[in-house]
Amino acid sequence: MSAPESIDLKDLRAAGLRVTAPRLAVLGAVREGGHPTVEEIALIARPRVGAVSTQAVYDVLHALTGAGIVRRIEPAGSAVRFESRVGDNHHHLICRSCATVIDVDCAVGHAPCLVPSADSGFTIDEAEVVYWGLCPACASTIDTAPVNPSPGSKPGPPRVNPNVEQDEPRARQKEETADD
Ligand SMILES: [Zn+2]
Ligand SMILES: [Zn+2]
Repeated sequence: MSAPESIDLKDLRAAGLRVTAPRLAVLGAVREGGHPTVEEIALIARPRVGAVSTQAVYDVLHALTGAGIVRRIEPAGSAVRFESRVGDNHHHLICRSCATVIDVDCAVGHAPCLVPSADSGFTIDEAEVVYWGLCPACASTIDTAPVNPSPGSKPGPPRVNPNVEQDEPRARQKEETADD
């Protein structure tokens, strides 16, 4: 029988990190939290180690990220999040409405899974892929009725008079036949 902490303890040692109570608590919180924010990690970790400042949680996360056993993700417009699933080039589905983050396996299976149209000489090792949209719960609550085409609105711009003659150049007549 092994407590869940023992896995974290082993990983800390394997990563060359000194094992401390805050590190164990933070790593455990990341693993349980899915893709938790720093605040969520602190909420889970605090009861286990007593007082641990948010700054201390940041410092631990920095160490864990640097050791490669925690991955930091920064969805645009969202809080920084952390996860313990590392090294498999998986991607994320993110809900624009509730910010739920879901793992999705890389469709190719290795990085970089996209090839740019031009690499400008770069040695590319990763393509960061985020699938933005609405989760099923949010999609079902949002009124999806399409915008009506407003029947009372004015018609569009006047049509071009079809009777206007087209100013097409005539066929080339440069070659003159000189009849002697
Ligand atoms: Zn959602
Ligand atoms: Zn993930």
